[in-house]
Amino acid sequence: MNDQHDAGETYNYGLSGDIWFTEHQSRDVDFSYKVRVLAEEQSPFQHIVFMDNPSFGRMFSINGFMQVTEADEFVYHDMIVHPALAVNPDIRRVLIIGGGDGGTARETLRYRQLERIDMVEIDEAVVRMSKQYLPVTACAFDDARLNLIIGDGLAHVQNSPDNSYDLILVDSTDPVGPGEGLFTFDFYRHCYRILGERGILINQQESAFYPGDFREMQRAQQKIKATFPIAMLYSFNMPSYGSGSWFFGFASKRLHPLNDHQPERWEQFGLDTRYYNRDIHRAAFALPNYLRRKLEQE
Ligand code: SAM
Repeated sequence: MNDQHDAGETYNYGLSGDIWFTEHQSRDVDFSYKVRVLAEEQSPFQHIVFMDNPSFGRMFSINGFMQVTEADEFVYHDMIVHPALAVNPDIRRVLIIGGGDGGTARETLRYRQLERIDMVEIDEAVVRMSKQYLPVTACAFDDARLNLIIGDGLAHVQNSPDNSYDLILVDSTDPVGPGEGLFTFDFYRHCYRILGERGILINQQESAFYPGDFREMQRAQQKIKATFPIAMLYSFNMPSYGSGSWFFGFASKRLHPLNDHQPERWEQFGLDTRYYNRDIHRAAFALPNYLRRKLEQE
């Protein structure tokens, strides 16, 4: 996520005794929140900190990078789940990889017609702490339709039979540490294999503004394009993520996110969403010129 800048958070103690959590964006840009630290744990995989901030509410970081905040989680979780269901409203089998805070599962579980929802999260500590400190996202773990597996997402896709899922949602951390395997050719090839013919893969694609983030996006997008005939990016506004502009990747074997968009059928689900709607869907796939040019230079 950062440009080889020192990873990890720093805490500064202001003159008044306030604690500031600082996330490094690049070599020379930091972003700080005044916080009250609620809980901190070093799991076998990563360093997790839950905090409160007056503007963003309850939030948590992993290895110094903001994951979820109460104030803007609805943007991220609407945009990771709903666009795919508006392109293929017949999706029945969903695999969520990562997403230990529960927000992606919460939005997925709103679709009553789904028959199978597997979620593979590598770190039980994220699930356990989210249940304790972030009920706004971790409110759906008790739903009997959710099959939570604590394990590695890469191993899960490697071991799944062909044509197991209609939708794979990769709600991962950045391509370092345990998340690294979720940005490899091997991972994307297995995702292709285990998706049905009308299958869709949505993955976390970083931001395009800071050069370090863009390089990660470019690397992942090149691999996905080499694996799936349709591979596009779509954006959303995320105030708590570096630069405020963030992207998901939409990849599929045959469905195009705009040509096959079915807003009328999606609206029949009757979901009351705070960010996503049919106009946002179309607008999200329009890329700014600076990003088009950067991608053309690939
Ligand atoms: N919304 C967040 C963001 O983009 O910053 C991501 C949310 S979620 C907390 C990310 C989760 O991915 C973490 O809980 C982490 O444990 C999980 N994760 C990382 N690598 C994984 C892997 N190989 N398999 C399964 N889960 C993984």
